[in-house]
Amino acid sequence: MGDSEQKNLSLSKIKNECKTKFVKVHCNKCKNEQNIFSCVSSKVECLVCGELLAEPCGGRSKIKGKILEILN
Ligand SMILES: [Zn+2]
Repeated sequence: MGDSEQKNLSLSKIKNECKTKFVKVHCNKCKNEQNIFSCVSSKVECLVCGELLAEPCGGRSKIKGKILEILN
C-alpha cells in the first residue's frame, strides 16, 4: 500500500513551487498602476507615493494593492 506516500510527495512538490509572474497592481492611495513581481523577496513600494504594494509572506507575497491584471 504505497498510495498515501505518493500523495504526500506530490503535495510537497506543489507547495515548494513558486511561479514568478508579473502582476499589475493599483495603488490604493494615489491610483498609480505599477507592474510588480507576484513573488517578491523584499517589500515593494509605490514609486509615486511610497505606499506599500507588496511584501514577502512565507515564500509567496502578500499583495496590498488591487490586482488589475496578471501578466506573463
Ligand atoms: Zn501610490
